[in-house]
Amino acid sequence: MKLGNPKNTIEVIQKYDFDFQKKFGQNFLIDERVLEKIISAAEVNKDDFVLEIGPGIGTMTQYLAENAREVMAVEIDKNLIPILSDTLSAYDNVSILNADILKVDIAKIVEEKNGGKPVKVVANLPYYITTPIIMGLFESHVPIDSITVMVQKEVADRMQSGPGTKDYGALSLAVQYYAEPYVVANVPPNCFMPRPKVGSAVIRLTKYKDAPIKVTNEKLLFQLIRASFNQRRKTLQNGIKNFGGLNFSKEQVAQALEEMELPASVRGEALTLEQFAQLSNILDR
Ligand code: SAM
Repeated sequence: MKLGNPKNTIEVIQKYDFDFQKKFGQNFLIDERVLEKIISAAEVNKDDFVLEIGPGIGTMTQYLAENAREVMAVEIDKNLIPILSDTLSAYDNVSILNADILKVDIAKIVEEKNGGKPVKVVANLPYYITTPIIMGLFESHVPIDSITVMVQKEVADRMQSGPGTKDYGALSLAVQYYAEPYVVANVPPNCFMPRPKVGSAVIRLTKYKDAPIKVTNEKLLFQLIRASFNQRRKTLQNGIKNFGGLNFSKEQVAQALEEMELPASVRGEALTLEQFAQLSNILDR
């Protein structure tokens, strides 16, 4: 049975007497146009190995299975596993792993299943762990071509914001260090069952093959970014000086800012990613 509409979704839910688990962020997609938009934005084709996070009852998985060479879907809720074997029984290119995505060694799976070649990640994410999932994928250096995901609209805005806007922050910089973000579509609550309280958006993050920003110390760059946005209202000098794990005096930061021709009173939210990288490289000397 083809999912992706309210009628068939309700039929599956009733057949299995399935209870939605709020704690797992379960809001299933029931809109075919949105599903088609996601598949087309992800540019899934028959060469692709796709990793899906949180297949739910398998709605998007069906679309992925039809378009990709192979799909691997990781689902935490054991009650969904028998449902998935039913709704995906027509496809022989899908495998389901009953596990917590944050505990899975994805690099190992990609190595085994796709010979270490880059994969596409496509998902309607559980919103309560959007940031750890995305940052985990980037930081663990899993070979990735692109990540096309449904997220809370506000989070999509943060991912693609630049300096001087209210949404600009540590997440914007971290995402933009690894990938080029592009918001594909805004999606209202009535495209899901049950309806979430927040608006959603589909965002595609195309991973850079070679990072355009070069730093001598990646760890330091991310510590500086966190320090700068930890207390947004503080000047960069004060934010960095007080941040645990960083051993820079106010004077050292002042000197670096002077070298960069930035005012001593500058706040983190005014700096571009390139400027954070420059600051990191100066302080790393
Ligand atoms: N893909 C389905 C759809 O679009 O209809 C369901 C999306 S729903 C927003 C999120 C899914 O992620 C749920 O099926 C939920 O059980 C699953 N999930 C939540 N936390 C997870 C975790 N830590 N690891 C793997 N899956 C998880």
